[in-house]
Amino acid sequence: MSRSESPTTRPGYLNRNKQRVIGKAAWVDSNAPNQNTYKLRCERHACGFEYGADGIDIHKRKCPRCQDGKPGQPAPETLPALF
Ligand SMILES: [Zn+2]
Repeated sequence: MSRSESPTTRPGYLNRNKQRVIGKAAWVDSNAPNQNTYKLRCERHACGFEYGADGIDIHKRKCPRCQDGKPGQPAPETLPALF
């Protein structure tokens, strides 16, 4: 299973819940060893909340703050331009 081909993990991707992909995190989620963690930002009005999410969850992710999504991981540092 490829984990880098999905368009949902590209920086700039915006899912249907207005959660924007900022970039890949500098660490891997220990709870899901084969998943990279990505930094997401809520683009909904007046929110802008940033948090970490597994790549596999990006397409369906909801904002933990304003959309009652599940709690995010701490907003990770993103790797500089590894795409
Ligand atoms: Zn939000």
